[in-house]
Amino acid sequence: MKIGFIGLGIMGKPMAKNLLKAGYSLVVSDLNKAAVDEVVAAGAQVANSTADLTGQCQVILTMLPNSPQVRQVALGVGGLIESIKPGTVFIDMSSINPIASREISEALAAKGVEMLDAPVSGGEPKAIDGTLAFMVGGKPEVFEQHKDLLGKMGASVVYCGTIGAGNVTKLCNQIIVAVNIAAVSEALMLGQKAGVSPNLIYQAIRGGLAGSTVLDAKAPMMMDRNFKPGFKIDLHIKDLNNVLDTAKSLDSPTFMSSMVMEMMKSLHASGDGQSDHSAVAKFYEKVAGCEICR
Ligand code: NAD
Repeated sequence: MKIGFIGLGIMGKPMAKNLLKAGYSLVVSDLNKAAVDEVVAAGAQVANSTADLTGQCQVILTMLPNSPQVRQVALGVGGLIESIKPGTVFIDMSSINPIASREISEALAAKGVEMLDAPVSGGEPKAIDGTLAFMVGGKPEVFEQHKDLLGKMGASVVYCGTIGAGNVTKLCNQIIVAVNIAAVSEALMLGQKAGVSPNLIYQAIRGGLAGSTVLDAKAPMMMDRNFKPGFKIDLHIKDLNNVLDTAKSLDSPTFMSSMVMEMMKSLHASGDGQSDHSAVAKFYEKVAGCEICR
């Protein structure tokens, strides 16, 4: 079986390499030639055109930035829809608006193509290790047939419901991470201002109810002033935009997501869009006029 893989960025490149290591034949494509060359050197075949890719592949995977890019690649002029064969399965692993996933799925269904939305959590280190967490939407039987393929790139592959459910789950994940980072920033700033060491606060509370993966990953980065990404502020703004759009269409409240979105937009405006999302601490520092240190 040949697999098409479109989008060889920070995440897609190591994910494609893990599929090659697992023995799959890949036909790859990206706007960035250097990324394509690197994955071809690892054993993939380059797609000479979209029709070349759709003509050979039974499953097509995408790992692209956001909804407009996935729409363009799937449904745009020169997109997959023009040449994709009935019976092909399209699996989009990008984090996009679930409404877009449903629209793309509907358009492809008219061509006899099934779709899964399968975004991931875990970031570049887990993409390299092949230990990502997949959250998947689509028909249960299509999920069952492709669970093992996704499992070659992830440590967990969880079925969440009909098409779009994967991306709804990813938005829930991004709300919890964003609000948790803001809470850690707010708490460590209070400690700093009160003259109690943020590091001792972190050590004292990490094993209790306030402990979290976010606390363990981000509190040390904040205290060390290491805002190298990781996951960029600009990507989190993209996800929170999708949260706010989706929530608006459902009349679902977004008090906390809206607040953290304003913090992240302020950081973007002051030049921190490419910093790790733990740089939310810098927003608190600006308002408080004081730095968080160990
Ligand atoms: P990235 O910007 O590094 O990679 C995207 C790739 O898509 C680039 O190589 C780009 O050239 C390519 N591309 C864009 N438009 C294209 C087109 N029309 N045709 C072919 N290629 C095209 O992004 P990333 O960090 O790899 O993220 C990909 C997705 O995964 C995003 O939705 C992101 O939110 C999600 N995600 C990222 C992380 C992370 O830590 N980086 C973690 C979890 C999920």
